Amino acid sequence: MHGVDLHTHSNISDGTLSPGELVSAAIQQGIHTLALTDHDTMDGLALAEQAAQGQDLKIISGVEISSQWSRPATKKSYSVHVVALNMQNPAPLQALLEQQKQIRAERAKQICDLLTPLIGQDIYNDVLLKVEGVADRITRTHIAKTLQEKGIVTRVQQAFDKYIKEGKKAYVKFDGLSLEDTIRVIHDSQGFAVLAHPTRYDLSATNIRYLIEIFAKYGGDAVELPPNIDPASTRQMVDRMIAEHGLKVSVGSDFHGENMPWIKLGNIPRVKDGQIGIWESFVE
Ligand code: AMP
Ligand code: MN
Ligand code: MN
Ligand code: MN
Repeated sequence: MHGVDLHTHSNISDGTLSPGELVSAAIQQGIHTLALTDHDTMDGLALAEQAAQGQDLKIISGVEISSQWSRPATKKSYSVHVVALNMQNPAPLQALLEQQKQIRAERAKQICDLLTPLIGQDIYNDVLLKVEGVADRITRTHIAKTLQEKGIVTRVQQAFDKYIKEGKKAYVKFDGLSLEDTIRVIHDSQGFAVLAHPTRYDLSATNIRYLIEIFAKYGGDAVELPPNIDPASTRQMVDRMIAEHGLKVSVGSDFHGENMPWIKLGNIPRVKDGQIGIWESFVE
């Protein structure tokens, strides 16, 4: 689906372009349908819509929600991202996003507090400077970048691997909405629920299959197609699960600007014969 990108970030979360700059970049790329899907916030939507006024680009309302699921047999909870798209009545979702933002703000402080004894300094105020003082916009990307800029790690990835990814000493789980509640509130807001990047959670193939199964059971609408850099066997497994559960597909680059320069805006995988794009259901 050339010209569609339904998963992008601005500097309202951990992207580097402002919503307006993102819209300009999208127009330059020949994108005609763009969803801004910042982490747990829709605060960039109005700016994106303003920038797209009178242009040949349609903005789809969106947000990437930090959610979680678990297997009944184990106590472990796994994090998962759900992209919400094309909300016709954003109020129910907005109300829950306010709670998610509070969790995000408190968690950022907790992560920095855990880091302090490990690195011998408190970086919280430097992290806050990266988000214009708006604590509920802080993602682990901002914390990782701060660690890199201070020379505590050499690369952003190293900050995750050494300190802040799951299993490391300064990891703090995002204890927000459950997968079931996430899908429910998206539907209450008359939007579509998309399982984001199913191959990016460090899950076994069995757990990816289980996740897609419960996502479908809870009424989820579509699964994001994995990027072409994933092994063909993994992509084919996801294609089979999509078909088996009668799910639609979504396409998005997960563009983050210069924070992840290898991800290009509008670079999306090919939709296979028989797959139905969620964008075909969008309400104008
Ligand atoms: P947060 O929502 O605060 O947990 O931050 C999540 C963001 O951090 C993701 O959207 C990615 O952009 C980035 N991220 C998560 N895990 C990693 C990782 N292992 N390496 C690099 N970036 C990551
Ligand atoms: Mn991100
Ligand atoms: Mn994500
Ligand atoms: Mn994303």
